[in-house]
Amino acid sequence: MGHPSIYDRIEKSRPGVARLKVRSAVTLLGAVCLSMALIVSWEVWSSRQYHLHDKEVAMSNLAQTLASQAQATIKQADTLLFSLVDRLENDGIEGDRLHRLQRLLSAQRNELSQIHGLFVYDQTGQWIANSNGAEVGVANNSDREYFIYHRDHPDRGPHIGPSIKSRSSGEWIMTVSRRINHPDGSFAGVALATIYLSHFLELYDSIDMGKNGVINLIADDASIVVRRPFNEADIGTSLAKSPLFTQLLPNGSAGTATIKSIIDGVERVVGYRRVEGYPLIVFAALNKDEVLAGWRKESMLSAAIVSLLLGFLGVLGYRLIKLMKQQNLIQVELLGSQERLLELNRNLELLALEDALTGLANRRQFDLFIQAETGRARRNLTGLALVMIDVDHFKAFNDHYGHLAGDQCLRNIAAIIIEHIKRPGDLAARFGGEEFAVVLPGTDYVGAFLVAEKIRRAVQAAGLQHNESPEGVITVSVGVCGYDPASQTRTEDLIGAADKALYVAKASGRNMSVIAN
Ligand code: GH3
Ligand code: MG
Ligand code: MG
Repeated sequence: MGHPSIYDRIEKSRPGVARLKVRSAVTLLGAVCLSMALIVSWEVWSSRQYHLHDKEVAMSNLAQTLASQAQATIKQADTLLFSLVDRLENDGIEGDRLHRLQRLLSAQRNELSQIHGLFVYDQTGQWIANSNGAEVGVANNSDREYFIYHRDHPDRGPHIGPSIKSRSSGEWIMTVSRRINHPDGSFAGVALATIYLSHFLELYDSIDMGKNGVINLIADDASIVVRRPFNEADIGTSLAKSPLFTQLLPNGSAGTATIKSIIDGVERVVGYRRVEGYPLIVFAALNKDEVLAGWRKESMLSAAIVSLLLGFLGVLGYRLIKLMKQQNLIQVELLGSQERLLELNRNLELLALEDALTGLANRRQFDLFIQAETGRARRNLTGLALVMIDVDHFKAFNDHYGHLAGDQCLRNIAAIIIEHIKRPGDLAARFGGEEFAVVLPGTDYVGAFLVAEKIRRAVQAAGLQHNESPEGVITVSVGVCGYDPASQTRTEDLIGAADKALYVAKASGRNMSVIAN
């Protein structure tokens, strides 16, 4: 047929569009799930950073506070040492000055609760004076670290040595010491203040550091001076190889970080700071696992909720896509039905080209046919003729015999016309009312006239009774017209000419064929 191209296009494009829709839905669903997962991951990650950062700031602040406390505590003891050294170097210890010094040390020690004792040693390590009232000259401390340090180092600043267990009281103490010089600058002895480690530990223990938190007071040489939680074995341990000394302190005297302990292998969030004016470092650290415990709980909850949502979304999306696929299937089926319907319509259209009463071609088909044939005749320069037939006195027939008889009469005439058309290319049509037309391609007006006459005579010979007609039977008048392909005559003019010839036949007495001039 070749003409229902628009339907073809619809049929071809719809399933494609439907497939595209399903693919878009799948893509959309995937994108939504992925974005949700990404957003939550980002949130969880930034929350982790926030938790860590928050504790780093807390540790930094704590380190600052503890450094101030350590500085104040040591400064008090060191101030005493400073004035003691000054007095010894200027006044000496001859006579009862030693007694006075001894009393002074006792008094000063009692003023400051953190001080375990104040001691003076001569250049051999012998006790010259002490605050604790023990007998002078009994003990020799020339083997202690602070004594060796000052003997071998000429600097006059305070020295903080490794913490020790007191020989006099058995308690853990921190030593702060200064060198005493002879007037000539040579080594004359050591002034020593000892501070209870418990003074620091009591404070450190009162701070909530979680189960696995650490507070360290570390000497410049990397040895541990005090450590919370307290463990005798840790005192004096060197941290020289820890990240604090290898990475952090070389880059600044204060800061925060997350590092792994070389003592217990635990990863911690740390804050550290050098104590101003003294060779000490304060180090405060929380267990990273403990810091992140709250975050972990939160994240688990978010993950669970999001997983639930994603699952829900997945199920919903899966159903939606399944529904869409089903819909597509239905659509394809619908399109199939539509195509079948179109086929049916085309058949109906064909039927509509036929005259219902006579079975001849109807006016529509006649118009299409004659239009096509005149065109073809023009192109091929072949002959073409048109024969127009009108029943005589048919109104009277109807009036006399009735309309149904009229219809039957028309059917009979149609049958006679068909009977006399032999060539397959010819077309007999009901032109309208009781008028018929015959198109004869490849025929000139002479041949057409012969056909016309045959039909006219056959109708008369059929002897269809018509008492109202002068002939007594049904007759027809015929107009014949040949088409000249060389003349550019229009189709309408051809019909007009045949009609005119028919009019002439009527006017000339009816029951005859007339050729148009
Ligand atoms: P004339 O010889 O001049 O042609 O006379 P006429 O009576 O045939 O005149 P006219 O052509 O004007 O009349 C046409 C009549 O044909 C009118 C109508 O009653 C009748 N007719 C037209 N179509 C039909 C039809 O389908 N069935 C029937 N029964 N009658 C029809
Ligand atoms: Mg008529
Ligand atoms: Mg008539």
